[in-house]
Parts: sequence; C-alpha cells; structure tokens
Amino acid sequence: MNLADKLTEERRGRLAAERMLELKQAELRAANRKLGLHARELTEKIVKTRAVVETIRDENQRFRSDLSAANQKIALTERRLWHSIGTIKDGFAFFNADNEMIMANQAYLAVFDGLEEIRPGVNYVTILQVLTEEGIVNTGDICPEAWRQMMTDRLYQPDPEPTIIQLWNGTHIKLIDQRGPGGDMVSLGLDISATVTHQENLKEARAIAETANRAKSAFLANISHEIRTPMNGVVGMAEVLAETDLTDEQKLYVDTIKNSGEALLLIINDVLDYSKIEAGKLDLHLSIFDLEQAVLEVLMLLQPAAREKGLALLLEFDMHIPSAVEGDPGRLRQIMTNLIGNALKFTSTGHIIVRVDTLAGTKDTIKIAIEDTGIGIPPDKLQDIFDEFNQVENERNRQFDGTGLGLAISQRLVRMMGGEIKVRSADGVGSTFEFAVTLPAAQAADPLPQPGKDLMHVIIMDPMEVSAGILRRQMERLGIKVTVCADPDEVLLRCNSGVAVILAEHAPPTHDGIALAQTIAEGPCPVPLILLSNTPGTTMPEGRGEGVQAILTKPPSRRDLLAQLAALPERDTPQTPPDALRPMRILAAEDNRTNQLVFRKMIKSLDVDLTFAANGEEAVELYQKIKPDLVFMDISMPRMDGKEATQAIRALESETGVKVPIIALTAHAMAGDDAAILAAGLDHCLTKPLRKPDILTQIHAAHSADMRPLETAEKADQLAG
Ligand code: ADP
Repeated sequence: MNLADKLTEERRGRLAAERMLELKQAELRAANRKLGLHARELTEKIVKTRAVVETIRDENQRFRSDLSAANQKIALTERRLWHSIGTIKDGFAFFNADNEMIMANQAYLAVFDGLEEIRPGVNYVTILQVLTEEGIVNTGDICPEAWRQMMTDRLYQPDPEPTIIQLWNGTHIKLIDQRGPGGDMVSLGLDISATVTHQENLKEARAIAETANRAKSAFLANISHEIRTPMNGVVGMAEVLAETDLTDEQKLYVDTIKNSGEALLLIINDVLDYSKIEAGKLDLHLSIFDLEQAVLEVLMLLQPAAREKGLALLLEFDMHIPSAVEGDPGRLRQIMTNLIGNALKFTSTGHIIVRVDTLAGTKDTIKIAIEDTGIGIPPDKLQDIFDEFNQVENERNRQFDGTGLGLAISQRLVRMMGGEIKVRSADGVGSTFEFAVTLPAAQAADPLPQPGKDLMHVIIMDPMEVSAGILRRQMERLGIKVTVCADPDEVLLRCNSGVAVILAEHAPPTHDGIALAQTIAEGPCPVPLILLSNTPGTTMPEGRGEGVQAILTKPPSRRDLLAQLAALPERDTPQTPPDALRPMRILAAEDNRTNQLVFRKMIKSLDVDLTFAANGEEAVELYQKIKPDLVFMDISMPRMDGKEATQAIRALESETGVKVPIIALTAHAMAGDDAAILAAGLDHCLTKPLRKPDILTQIHAAHSADMRPLETAEKADQLAG
C-alpha cells in the first residue's frame, strides 16, 4: 500500500470518527434536553406540593386554635350551667347508666343535711337506703323496706312515672327521673309543698261551701214547703170565693188573687224541686207506665196554649216503642212540661214537634226531642243555658217571664235518670232540646192492637207537610204503603180500590173530612175514612158521617189509631154491594193530573174499579198487583214511557199466558207513530184529546160476562134522569 492509499484510508478513518463524534454529541444534547425538561417538571411539582403542605399547616393551626376556643367555651358553658343549677332551689342530680351520681346541686344535697356518703359516686339505691334509715323521708303507711322496693322498681322502669314523696318536715317533693339516650339519668326534685297546701285549702273550702250550699238548699226546701201550704189555702179559697155571688169588680179581684197565687205556686214548686235536688233529697219513684200516655197528657195540658198562639203542637211517637216501660212518669212529665213549655214560650209562629224514638243501636234507651221554630238561642249562650237562674237576657226575650230554673231542674232530673240533655239551636230559626234515658220495656197489661194483614195501602190527607210526614213515617214503620195528598180533590184522584183507608185532616171548611167521606162513599170505590181533628171532642154531625170510621183528636195516640185500623171492615164486604160478580178493573197510566181527572169524569157513570199509575214503572207494578182487565196507556210519561211499560207487561204475560188489552193514549197524531206503538205490543191507539165514546167503546169491548155490568141500576137511573 502506497502512501497515497494510506493517507486516503487515514482520512476516511478520521471522517468516520468525526461523524461518530457528531452523532454522539447530538445524542448527548437530546439526552440533556430531556433531563432539563424532567428537572423543570420536578421543580414545578415540588413547588406545588410545598404550597399544599403550607395550606394544610395553616389550616391545622387554625383548627387547633378553634378547638381550644371551643373547649374554653364548653368549659365556660358547663361552669355557667352548673352555676345555674346550683342556684335553683329545686334539687337536681345527674346519674350515669349504673345509677351512680355524677353531680348534684346544693338543693339536692341539702336534703341529706351534709351526710358524708351522699356525694358524687354514690348509688341511687344507697340514696334510697339513707333516706329511710336516717328518717329523712316519711313513708307514711308503707314500711321502709316496701317503700325502697317500690322506688327501686320504679327506678328500673324505662320511663319512670313522676312520684311525690313527703319529707320528715312536711315538705312535699315531686320526683321526676328521666333517662337519656345513653342510659344517663337526670333526677329533678321539685318542692311542691305550696301547691299541695293550696289544694288542701281549696278542698276544705269546697267542702265548707258545699255544706253551706246544702244547708241553704235545705232551708229553701223547707221555706218553699212552708210557703206552699198557705198558698194552697189562698188559691183554694179564692176558687171557692169565685163560686159565690160576686159583683164584676169583686170577681176581677178574686181572679187576680187566684191567677197570681197559681203563678206563685209554680215558682215555688220550681224552687222547691231545685232545692231538693241540690240538697240530695229528691228521689225517683219508679213504676211501670205507658210512656205514650204520659207524653199525650203533657201535650193535652199545653195544647190550649199552643192553639191560642196559633202553633201546631205535634207528636211523632215511634210505632215500635213498647207501650209499657219502667221509669219515673211524674218526673218525666215534669221534664217534658218544662221543655215543651219553653218551646211554646219562645215560639210565635210555626210548630213544635215532640219526637219519641229509641236511640240508634239500643233497645231500651228512649230519646225524646222537642223541636221548635222559635227565637233560638245565640251560640255564645248555649253552653250555660242549663245553669240555674240563667236566662238569655236580651231585647227579644225580656218580655218572657220565668225563674230560669226550668232547664237546670230538667238537666238534673235527666242526670238522675242516668241520661244527658243536649240543645241545638240556630239564632232566629229554632231550638231542639233532646234527652235520652233508659226506660226498660215492661210487660204491658193491655198490648197495642195490630192492624189486619190486608192493610197494604193508605192515603193520608194533611195540608201541613210536617204533620203529614209524621203520619206517613208512622204508617211506613208498620210496612204500609202511603200516598200523601194535600187536599180532597187530590184524594179523589188518587183513591182506588187498593186503598184500605184514608187518614184525613178534618178542618172545615177547606178540609171537610165528613163531606169528603160522603163523596167517596158514593163514588166508584168506597174507602172508609179516619178523620183527624185539631179540635178535641169533635163528633159526627147528626145524619151525616157516611164512610167515616172514626174521628180522632190530633195528635192521635198509637193505641187509638191502631184500634181504628184493626177495626176496619174486611175488604169487599158490606161497603160494596153484595154482588157475586167483581167489578171490571181498569188501569190507566197517565202522569198528568188534569188528564186523570178528565178520564175519571168520562167514565164516572160506569161501575168499574179505576186505578191510576203516574208513570210507566208504576203501571207495570200495578199491573202485577191489581191484574186489570183493560189498560189505558199514555205513551209519553216520565221514568218509563208507555211503549217500554207495555213491553214489560207483555214480557210478564208470556209467563202467565193471559193477555190484557192495552190501549195507547197518544198526543202525537202523526203518521208512522201508530205503527211503532202497535209494534211495541199495544192493541189500539187513541189520540188526545180523548173522546168519551172512544173510551167507552174500548171498555165495552174488553168487558166480559164474569164482571159486574158496567151500568149499575143506580147509575143507569142517574144517566136516564
Ligand atoms: P225560664 O224559662 O224559667 O226562664 P229555663 O231554665 O227554662 O228558665 O230557661 C232558661 C233560658 O233559656 C230561658 O230564659 C231562655 O232564655 C232560654 N230558653 C230555654 N228554652 C228555649 C227555647 N226553646 N227557645 C229559646 N230560648 C230558650
């Protein structure tokens, strides 16, 4: 190898070494940069961490200072609390779950008068021991061991009841022990000596007052009795004197003496009764009596006063109350006289209703309510209305006199009977006084009569809605169907052969029951009438009274009413002509009263039994009941129209196989209507206004030989005449 080659090789080697150096240097720089970056990141992290550490250190410092402040506060509060507890004059102690004393205030410890062992750490049971052994507590009739046992048992209850203990010096301590959630217990001993003394004084004062009150009542009772005896003489002699020959002036004087004497006697009787009750000298006299009779006697007594004021005095006596009960009838009458008397006194228009019923859910407890439509009682006076000498004093009733004892006496009498008296009232509208007493049912000497089984339907005619309602409920209680009518015209319209009797108000001239009875007796379905009159002793005028079963005075007693209902003649006997054949039965469904009247008038010459149904439903019902020979059916009626009713009847007939002719009465004389009507099962259509010949034709067509002739001899005569 020549030099040139050597030099070339050397240069090549140097160049390669230089490239290698450059490469390594580049790598070194890159590594350096990476290292620099890493170092910076680390520095940043260190800075951040240091900041966090510093914050935590600051917070720690703050917490530490807060904690120490809080601790100081707690210590202060505890000091103050104990200071306060220390200053209260009631005993206060704190026990742990093992009943060991943690702390007690001075008042608590003072009870033990410096006894060494009563200090924090002592057990509650030991305290009880010390209390008895040292004679600190007065255990009364109970021996110390039993007392300790009782108190220990109490201690172990989860929630001990407060108890009162008496100390040797007469101090009364109320012990209240209360366990906290962890089992700790707070024990409080309240000195209630003052309250106890006060209560004892009160009791003593009350006993003295009651004795004085009884003495006063006894005195009043005696004095009233003493006054009553001579007053009876005064009134009696005034009566005798009134019978003698007197001038008008003398008569006036005597009457005044008598009336004033009687008024005074009433007041004295009230005072006497009240005093007797207060002195505990009034006894109930039990006997078996007729409650309804007792109520009626009171009503009879007060009825004249009611009539004078134009007030209706009504009685609703439940049909199922036994007629004989056991109780004090005299005192019951007295209560009712007071209450009904008040109702009369404080009512100027309207009515007074006495309702006698059994209390819901009981058999023997009788509820008597007196309801009036009078001046009422203002709400703020209601609660003390039963207090003695209490009267609602205001403009309105200053005019009414009275002693203010009636309600107080009534309330006490009701209470003596084991009941309670209540009042409901709306100012200016009326009041209801109500009381319930137990009156056990007794064996009746003379049980109430029972109406016959065929008494299914009655008509009541009474223009006064309330009294009609009373009679209706009484009849319905007996399971009898009732139709109420307001006047004689309505009775004539609604009367049919299904009606057994008409109970009608007799108050001529508007409601002349006797005239109505006569009209009905002469009509197609003679139904007997029982008349109810407001005037006692109303009798039937000479020569009249056809169809009148009886005249009863309102309110009728259940006994009288039931006796008359039971005495009704058997159906289809003497009243109807003794004919072997039955009358033809026609059912007319027509809701319009005028149309009913028109219909009745049109056929009044015929001897048929006509019954009206007021709607389709009633028509179907009556169809089943009376089994008519012919039906006239109005098409448009309320509840169920004529087509539906006919369909229902036809459906019923499909079971029996008998088919009754049904004639449609329709107001729509429109083509096409007839077809729909006939399709519903009706046999023929008559359009309104009805024409008598059309009706008669239909009736004659449906008449058959087994029915009574349509024209009776009498009616035919009338027609001819
Ligand atoms: P007296 O009627 O003798 O005043 P009561 O004790 O019977 O005494 O009644 C006390 C008061 O209660 C009456 O004065 C009257 O103000 C009120 N009161 C009693 N019953 C009624 C009543 N039915 N309607 C309105 N107020 C009545």
